[in-house]
Amino acid sequence: MNSATNRWLVLLDQFIEDWVGMTLPRPAVAMQEFVQEDGCMWCGETIHNDLERCTCATRRVPWNRVFRLGAYEQPLSTSILQTKYAAWPEMAAFLGKILGERLRGCVPPNTVIVPIPMPLLRKFFRRIDHAHLLALHVSRASGIPIRRALFRRNTTPQASKTASRRKSLPRNAMWLRPWARIKGKNILLIDDVLTTGKTLEVASNTLQAAGVLSIQVAVLAVTNLPQKGKKL
Ligand SMILES: [Zn+2]
Repeated sequence: MNSATNRWLVLLDQFIEDWVGMTLPRPAVAMQEFVQEDGCMWCGETIHNDLERCTCATRRVPWNRVFRLGAYEQPLSTSILQTKYAAWPEMAAFLGKILGERLRGCVPPNTVIVPIPMPLLRKFFRRIDHAHLLALHVSRASGIPIRRALFRRNTTPQASKTASRRKSLPRNAMWLRPWARIKGKNILLIDDVLTTGKTLEVASNTLQAAGVLSIQVAVLAVTNLPQKGKKL
């Protein structure tokens, strides 16, 4: 290779590195300020005052426990959005590994991971099924087997709706796949963010109807909604 070609290759390499570094930094760099913070064991919300009861004390929670990495705040929130909308598998791997390590030894025996399913049409346009990818990495890091037990029909994306409209997710939006083999299992549902919990609730109800033993939820982040669960 002559020196002129070599110079061009070096320039090209530098350009790619600058460009990639500018749009998507390495996951470890993007997340270097992040500190894990557990939330309420039942609803996942941030606990503000240990002496005060959590807002979930006055409402029904459709699962047994929530695990989270933190609140839906920087830098976690940006990383989750980029994973979803910029189809960034490296970040899904990075976050999935942290969540998987957090879950080690925290779930009962006979547990299987079930990712929150994404409608096929949306998967086609987004080019990434982030919850499934996340679940794969959680499974790898925690040693818990994964089973894609749920199937979802095409509905409007949750992220494009307001909090009140999200609650109208139809009850029959999810089905059990044939031969899901989850009866008598402990389930660990995986999603990226817990906001109103409606999607996870529909999934929990579908699984409960199929005769599962218990349902635990593991998410990357939980949105703190000030009005959530408050008495009117
Ligand atoms: Zn709570």
